[in-house]
Amino acid sequence: MLLLNNHSFKYETEQIGLLFFPQHENLKIISNLTEKDGLSYVHTEIEYEGKSASFDFSGVCETKKDYANLIKRSAFGAAEKISDIPAPWGILTGIRPAKPVRKMLEDGAAEDEVLAVLKDTYLVTDKKARLAIDIAKAERNLCTNDKSKVSVYIGIPFCPTRCSYCSFISHDASKMIKLSAEYVKKLCEEIKVISKIINDLGLSVRNLYFGGGTPTALSESELKTLFEAVSENFDVSQIEEFTVEAGRPDTITREKLSAILESGARRISINPQTKWDETLKRIGRNHTFEDFLNAYNLAREMGFRNINCDLIAGLPSETPAMFSETCDTLLKLSPENLTVHTLYIKRASRIKAEHEKISTAGIEEMVDTAAEKCKEKGLFPYYLYKQKTTSGNLENVGYSKRGFECLYNSDTMSDSASVFALGAGGVTKLVMDDRIERVFNFKNADDYINKFDEIIKRKESIPKIFTRKEG
Ligand code: SF4
Repeated sequence: MLLLNNHSFKYETEQIGLLFFPQHENLKIISNLTEKDGLSYVHTEIEYEGKSASFDFSGVCETKKDYANLIKRSAFGAAEKISDIPAPWGILTGIRPAKPVRKMLEDGAAEDEVLAVLKDTYLVTDKKARLAIDIAKAERNLCTNDKSKVSVYIGIPFCPTRCSYCSFISHDASKMIKLSAEYVKKLCEEIKVISKIINDLGLSVRNLYFGGGTPTALSESELKTLFEAVSENFDVSQIEEFTVEAGRPDTITREKLSAILESGARRISINPQTKWDETLKRIGRNHTFEDFLNAYNLAREMGFRNINCDLIAGLPSETPAMFSETCDTLLKLSPENLTVHTLYIKRASRIKAEHEKISTAGIEEMVDTAAEKCKEKGLFPYYLYKQKTTSGNLENVGYSKRGFECLYNSDTMSDSASVFALGAGGVTKLVMDDRIERVFNFKNADDYINKFDEIIKRKESIPKIFTRKEG
């Protein structure tokens, strides 16, 4: 329950509640704002499962952001008294913590000043503040400043089975994949429509990204059909980066890798998540670590020179020692990118439905271990994002060898370029000088197929959005 007196910062107050009390059903927050002699005072009271605490915080508020921060600080102060969940990112609750940091640096603030603001105003720990600054500096070199350069994202919402922590694809993964032929047909039509819009607007494609789901869950001939549509509608030779996620090793074959190479894609992702087979079985991934090694070695042998591998810190029953071994084993393979996620339990996931208790013990140590080991092997952090309820309120970080950073990830996370998103669940983000607007596709594959005309209608409104002047 949320009671706000004299202010309407509901979202901000809720965000702090979510940080400390992810199971927030029995949470009560009362937040009270008063003003006196040019100062604003916030008093917050929190009750949760028999425990209660309050905290007062005051300051001078001139902008809406000042008020939001003051209200969050007060709620944070009360919440941390009765919760043992760490919040290393303080009141920086957005999913892109490096974005405000980059803005401060671009506005001329020195690194020391930014560090002080992050620690004193936003209550970010020293370690995370330094990470955010490193990422913001990396973004400065990687992201485009040219608004005419855009990203294209093509989503494939199929996987061979559903991982237990995921709700992205439907429960019945094997049934869903039966829609793939019809889905690919519609996607080819959408590629054609989007390419025309991009050309008509005088834009050019900087990077192209096939994500999911698992794009390689499609058959070899479906992949080829899609790649043909891409090459017929875009000049792939002019695209700076072309990625295909081949995430699940159990979907990778020599023929599919060969189709990816022929398409012009040079960056792929093959994701083990962990080296431990008992964990892989437990989280429903239907492949072993050896399957991953075979797929990885095959990709190398076939000539892929830019491979990303995803890992998850905090998987059920894994200890810091197990995670550390996973890092060592993977880094020995020398992937160009390593993306380290912290376990994020989606609301409709199997883990959540079965009320499996996930421990956050040791997870911060795991994240630190990954950072140290990556640094030793010459992989540096270059992109960062948070999700709302990750274990330990930690982050996901992309590490890369210099010169192999994923431009799509950098442009997307920093909001520097528009993203034209195709396929089920695609959210097109139009980044203009004065604003950002979004155009949504339907989330499910069957809606995408059955209501395709509506999607095209929405997409055809993009030129108007782009050319509209605000105010
Ligand atoms: S491979 Fe990724 S998208 Fe597919 S079920 Fe697993 S976590 Fe979800």
